[in-house]
Amino acid sequence: MRQSLGKEQKTFTLVVKRLDPGTRTFVEKSFQVEADHFTCVLDILIAVKEKQDHTLSMRYSCNMGICGSCGMVINGKPRLACETNVYSLGSETIHVGPMEAHPLLKDLVTDFDEFFANHRSVKPWLVRDDTDEQFRAEKEYHQTHRQVDYFLDFAHCIKCGLCVDACPVSNTNPHFVGPQALAQAYRYNSDSRDQGEEERLDSLDRMDGVWGCEFAGACSEVCPKGVDPALTIQQLKIDIMKRRLTGRVNPDKRAR
Ligand code: SF4
Repeated sequence: MRQSLGKEQKTFTLVVKRLDPGTRTFVEKSFQVEADHFTCVLDILIAVKEKQDHTLSMRYSCNMGICGSCGMVINGKPRLACETNVYSLGSETIHVGPMEAHPLLKDLVTDFDEFFANHRSVKPWLVRDDTDEQFRAEKEYHQTHRQVDYFLDFAHCIKCGLCVDACPVSNTNPHFVGPQALAQAYRYNSDSRDQGEEERLDSLDRMDGVWGCEFAGACSEVCPKGVDPALTIQQLKIDIMKRRLTGRVNPDKRAR
């Protein structure tokens, strides 16, 4: 746990929702934990694992909101444990459980295979007809600040999966590609170096693609990086309709 820096410590009750492998039912286990004003939920989970229950499993790495590994449901909302200050929850009881839209592996650890399969399905890389940049360093693609600004906000995704967990459609339709993948499709479609926009729009013009989105907006509400997937999905819908009507996609994105 982080140094208290002379700040007052308070006792909190941590309630962890865990799957009992024997009965395959969820059980709740409570722990008493100390926290000061700098303590995050990941800190108290690590302290519990070190001092009270070595069997508790959770995934984490950077502890600074970059790796996206420690997503879980905290007091009813998908959040990053490392970015959730214990005091900010406004309760002396902290409930933590695994994200529910991802298959459960153990305790707070969920399986991201499907999530990354959906991510890869939208070709989250620069699709190019030529390969000059890959093989000739002097052939790097230049962009103006304005061209970078056009996609930069959507490039901050850390693949934490919180948006998928919050999405009511992802929770009920396992075939829905999900808000994270759709946001990344829009991120690459908006990049002046990319030539894969038509291909992505074609593959997402279906009920399990952009049209599955019911615009609940929960994805954008929980995103810790301000990516705003809900906005990007509506934008993809507009781009698909524009293409149907005019036969063209973002004709001027390279000219910005
Ligand atoms: S869009 Fe936001 S919530 Fe969704 S995976 Fe990326 S960073 Fe996480």
